[in-house]
This record gives sequence, structure tokens and C-alpha cells, in this order.
Amino acid sequence: MDIRKGDRLVMKKKHPCGANEMIVLRTGMDFKLRCAGCAREFMIPRSKAERSVKAVSRPDEGSEGSEGTEDTEGTEGSRS
Ligand SMILES: [Zn+2]
Repeated sequence: MDIRKGDRLVMKKKHPCGANEMIVLRTGMDFKLRCAGCAREFMIPRSKAERSVKAVSRPDEGSEGSEGTEDTEGTEGSRS
């Protein structure tokens, strides 16, 4: 599963506070997550995290690279 920092995870199980979304603060061997409901932070092993995630929602990473609109102006001036 592709989980990245900044992702919002929808968990299969609800947190005691009632929220079922977590925000990824750090990835690696362990994930550091913050509950979207109560803002509590905790670390869980990657394997466990992946098993308890139902869906990953990633906010759009901005529309980078606006299509290259290079104006290639024909330099055909200089007429004698
Ligand atoms: Zn919570």
C-alpha cells in the first residue's frame, strides 16, 4: 500500500473519540499518526497500520507543471 506523509487514512476501526480518520505525520518502519478527531498522536508499526487502513485519501498535490506554453516567436524579421 502506498502511504505517504500528509495522507489522510480512513481506518477500519474507529478511534475511541469517534473519528475514523488519521493523518500521517511520518512514515517508515513505524507510522506516526494523528487522530483527526482528538488530535492525539501515536506510533504504530507499518504492518499493523496497513492492515487497519480502509482507504487513503490524498489531498491534491497542487497542479504543478502548467502545460508548457512556450511562445516560439518566429524571428523572421530583418528584411532588407
Ligand atoms: Zn481520536
